[in-house]
Amino acid sequence: MSAVLDLSNVRKTYGALNALDGLDLTLPDNAYVALLGPSGSGKTTLLRVIAGFETPDAGSLTFKGNRIEGVAPHRRDIGFVFQNFALFPHLSVAKNIAFGLEHRDIDPVTDPKILHTRVKDMVALVGLDGLEERAVTQISGGQRQRVALARTLITEPSLVLLDEPLGALDANLRGRMRLELRAIRERCGVTFLHVTGSESEALAMGDLVLVLDQGKIAQAADADTVYNQPKSPAVARFLNCYNLFDGTLSGNGFVNPLATFPLGGAIPRQSGQPGYAIRYDRIAVRPLDEAVANDEVRLEATFVADEYSGAAINSFFALDDGRVFEVESHLSQTVPAALQPQSRYALVWKRDDALVYA
Ligand code: ADP
Ligand code: MG
Repeated sequence: MSAVLDLSNVRKTYGALNALDGLDLTLPDNAYVALLGPSGSGKTTLLRVIAGFETPDAGSLTFKGNRIEGVAPHRRDIGFVFQNFALFPHLSVAKNIAFGLEHRDIDPVTDPKILHTRVKDMVALVGLDGLEERAVTQISGGQRQRVALARTLITEPSLVLLDEPLGALDANLRGRMRLELRAIRERCGVTFLHVTGSESEALAMGDLVLVLDQGKIAQAADADTVYNQPKSPAVARFLNCYNLFDGTLSGNGFVNPLATFPLGGAIPRQSGQPGYAIRYDRIAVRPLDEAVANDEVRLEATFVADEYSGAAINSFFALDDGRVFEVESHLSQTVPAALQPQSRYALVWKRDDALVYA
């Protein structure tokens, strides 16, 4: 697979803050790439550097084989869909979409007939038929999102940057727009770089998922690999489906302030940061007096509350250091027994199900 964009050792500092700290990244051609990072991790900064709105302090950007550090934003052939859509409120849907094409620096389109055809194609592509003459103030959030996308796509960029594009939509619409965005991208055949703070969105949408941590890409892999084999405790934390413990490896155990967890046969992953992670849905809740098998790990905790979410129940426990420990039971597999709040239980998992980091 050839690369459309390659960033090498990119740095961007704001005073003492390293927003991008020697970041390397490669985006494949014709792919949906999701970039996951918590708020403040540098996602917008990264997009702004790629688009050319920010100048990096160091590093190289290679786009379609050419260095672009010195190229002005409007000459980069890179589209940007802003977080708040940034539409012109006084213009209609059609005029908003046409704007980018009429006013682009290279090869602007002014012939009304050509413009009309191009806008019509875009309207159809993003599913806005019949709304062309509406004011953008009189359409829904999801429709505004489509206008913002169409306005970018009409200029036929080779790469489209989307800054938390679904963040302003309600949950229902967000689900539908996930599928829509993937379908639209497939029809255009260009790479989308979609940044998000939502792990479920990143995992559901990305052919390739990048995880941003401390100004660097901590992991770049398909969703399944990121979810099942996070490269570091930090990546596991962002996924919101692992209980994490700090501690140290010693002999055949992971020593943390609460207990020493015996290890299975797996070799600890080198990550530069020791840690122990066990997935929410790999844990059984048992009465205190039930026996533990040779290949299991056991930890006692106090049940606090649970939360029903359709397909699963998430149960929350208080560990003896006060931290919360979460267990997810999928209802298709077992109906968990009712737990008594403030009672003690044994949390049990297989040694081999844990991810151990050295
Ligand atoms: P994200 O989009 O992931 O929430 P940002 O890229 O907006 O993160 O910001 C990353 C960090 O850089 C934050 O700590 C933010 O406060 C800081 N930052 C962003 N832009 C500026 C700026 N223009 N001046 C100073 N600090 C900034
Ligand atoms: Mg941002």
